[in-house]
Amino acid sequence: MDLGISGKWALVCGASKGLGLGCAQALAAEGVNVLIVARGADALHAAAAQLKAQYPGVQVLAVPADITTTEGRAAVFAVRQDFDIVVTNAGGPPPGDFRDWDREAWIKAVDANMLTPIELIKATVDGMAARGFGRIINITSSAVKAPIDILGLSNGARSGLTGFVAGVSRSKIAAQGVTINNLLPGAFDTDRLKGTMAGAAKKTGKPIEDIMETRKKTIPALRFGQPDEFGAVCAFLCSQQAGYITGQNVLTDGGAYPGSF
Ligand code: NAP
Repeated sequence: MDLGISGKWALVCGASKGLGLGCAQALAAEGVNVLIVARGADALHAAAAQLKAQYPGVQVLAVPADITTTEGRAAVFAVRQDFDIVVTNAGGPPPGDFRDWDREAWIKAVDANMLTPIELIKATVDGMAARGFGRIINITSSAVKAPIDILGLSNGARSGLTGFVAGVSRSKIAAQGVTINNLLPGAFDTDRLKGTMAGAAKKTGKPIEDIMETRKKTIPALRFGQPDEFGAVCAFLCSQQAGYITGQNVLTDGGAYPGSF
């Protein structure tokens, strides 16, 4: 299926690896030019080189920056402003016990996982509306739909973003060709997941392989998702065909969420 987005420009945040890179790859495969962002310059430039080699027909720009800071976002918009597609993403907050989190921990989580996507939407949405096409995808988490106790910072901050998106996606931009959706990953095979599993292995004294196998058994698909599967869903939500899908929270979790809706 031709997604009808060849030649468009996408800003993909948190894209040197994992789910962000999966999204950048899937968009580039559709002929979308991409500007990718991550803090670590070496991994980011390696990812950009890989994208250029795989998809020689698309333009690939790489801006090493912390997207959760004003300076980081300014560095991105100094290079380009008129994005047709924006994928917001940054690292998730750490797990823990809410009794240990002070105001600073909360501000950091809200800044990264709520206010940063809102700033990125604010900076790009009116230009998209003026041009009559825009797709914004926020990578959030299945924990928004089924909160996980030790991920309170993530549950809280991302739920705030989810409420904001529910409103703004239904504002007048909906009639101007702009959609905003959240993409909710369950368990995907990325460094973040491996880090969480390594933490659980250390805490319980069990081998990481056992922790991973036990976790997989909780997922009806009996496996972790792959970043390219996640990227493919992202690319579809960015397509011309997905123009009537907005304000949605799309789960990609191998059936882990047990509800009907
Ligand atoms: P990952 O493999 O650790 O990759 C994260 C990417 O984001 C890296 O490229 C990282 O590069 C970049 N990044 C992190 N903080 C950044 C910042 N402040 N500014 C710019 N780039 C930043 O993680 P992932 O598994 O792809 O997860 C992506 C998001 O999905 C996270 O928010 C995570 O919490 C959420 N999620 C993941 C899963 C899962 O199973 N994987 C499940 C639920 C939710 P640098 O570190 O070099 O900046």
